[in-house]
Amino acid sequence: MELSSIYKESQIWFFTGTQHLYGEDIFSQIKEHSQTICETLSGSPSCPVKIVFKSLLSTPDGIYRALGEAQTDMSCAGVVLWMHTFSPAKMWIRGLKSISKPVLHLHTQFNRDIPFKSIDMDFMNLNQSAHGDREFGFITARLGVNREVVAGHYSEESVQRKVADWARVAVGWKHLQGMKVARFGDNMREVAVTEGDKVEAQIKFGYSVNGYGVSDLVRYIDSVSDIEAARFVESYCDNYEVSSDLLKGGANHQSLIYAAKQDAGLERFLTDGGFSAFTTTFEDLEGLDQLPGFACQRMMEKGYGFGAEGDWKTAAFVNAAKVIAYGNDTGTSFMEDYTYHFDPLDSMVLGAHMLEVCPSLAAKKPKIELHPLGIGGKNSPVRMIFDSAPGDAINATIVDMGDRFRMIINRVTAVESRELPKLPVARVLLKPQPDLETAAAAWILAGGAHHTVYTKSVTSEQFSILARLADIEILSIDSSTSLDSLRNEIRWNEMYFRMRN
Ligand code: MN
Repeated sequence: MELSSIYKESQIWFFTGTQHLYGEDIFSQIKEHSQTICETLSGSPSCPVKIVFKSLLSTPDGIYRALGEAQTDMSCAGVVLWMHTFSPAKMWIRGLKSISKPVLHLHTQFNRDIPFKSIDMDFMNLNQSAHGDREFGFITARLGVNREVVAGHYSEESVQRKVADWARVAVGWKHLQGMKVARFGDNMREVAVTEGDKVEAQIKFGYSVNGYGVSDLVRYIDSVSDIEAARFVESYCDNYEVSSDLLKGGANHQSLIYAAKQDAGLERFLTDGGFSAFTTTFEDLEGLDQLPGFACQRMMEKGYGFGAEGDWKTAAFVNAAKVIAYGNDTGTSFMEDYTYHFDPLDSMVLGAHMLEVCPSLAAKKPKIELHPLGIGGKNSPVRMIFDSAPGDAINATIVDMGDRFRMIINRVTAVESRELPKLPVARVLLKPQPDLETAAAAWILAGGAHHTVYTKSVTSEQFSILARLADIEILSIDSSTSLDSLRNEIRWNEMYFRMRN
């Protein structure tokens, strides 16, 4: 899958609000200012997508037409709205009611400083964002427009980054609309948290989830030739450290050839069907010689979303995170909180999975090795093994509470790995905020899943924007979390969602 094409096919549209009261002489100046702002925002190194100045809006009909075009245009991922002058906001009601794409209200002004010595009434009439944007803010609040607000001068790096971070989520959101998740087999039997309402998910997030027999995948795998598999193996030698027993002439070479067939076959299946994410389950492996863990790692490395044991919510979430992180991704993966280190002076979590952790996290070149796996009842599976690079990260999950989806976001820090000579899986050691005991209790109180999206690139603010676009509940666990406040927050949220539904 080509994550780059998702960005190439997307634009953010920028509209500037004004009115006719000041005469039209200033319109050309306002346009010029708007152009400059768009060029500055688009040109910032953090911005992954073109922000295009479209037009000045000064009448109710013009506003309705412009936002209608933004709504229907296939390339438009979202709109940035800015009031250079006062733009009486009743003019905006009809237009704002017609747009459901991501909206960012940029509260900036063209001049950074007040020219204290030269300021006159003409300057005041032109540079009116300070109150023009308040009039506009009122109507978006009154209408309940789902929007983000970024305030500050557009030349500031922090403002450019906030706009760029939002633009990434807007592109991710656009991608999710119509995105397809393939589910091989169903759920791991009796597991609760990986279940959920797929129809509601499609209504809220935009992606569809459909089931396929593992035999559909087996056909693709079996049709990969030995020659093609050998070519894949060559490319593994260029990109990873392949254990000698798996190389040509080695005792386990055929296992790597078969893993390469799974890799090639799975990608062909996903490409043919236009899928961006998928799930597997080790309770439905009929026709496969080994668990496709290595192929799952390879797919995630290419940007596909993955969820183990039928976990379609996490599969879609991993893909969304990969799109949001694109071009800037220092590691984004499916993850599982596996086991704890409760040392009071150095407490942490070991994050891993049976096999499926994305090599984008690897601190060094991953090793490809073959080891037995006491689950699934198949031949020993090939897998990539590595330690994850240290640094700040986010662990996040989405659960289905029955009447709403809930996103739970925990800020964590990955630390230097330890020697784990007898654990042949990819892994990460995490210290959650505010501390392991509070974070784990908070996560449990919130009903957070054992499966997560672990990312070093997508921020908790970006996940919150995504959750607001989907109009779902958000619970954040970070350095300010106290369990008493979290309990109250859960109660209040429950009331809010139940009253609203
Ligand atoms: Mn699992």
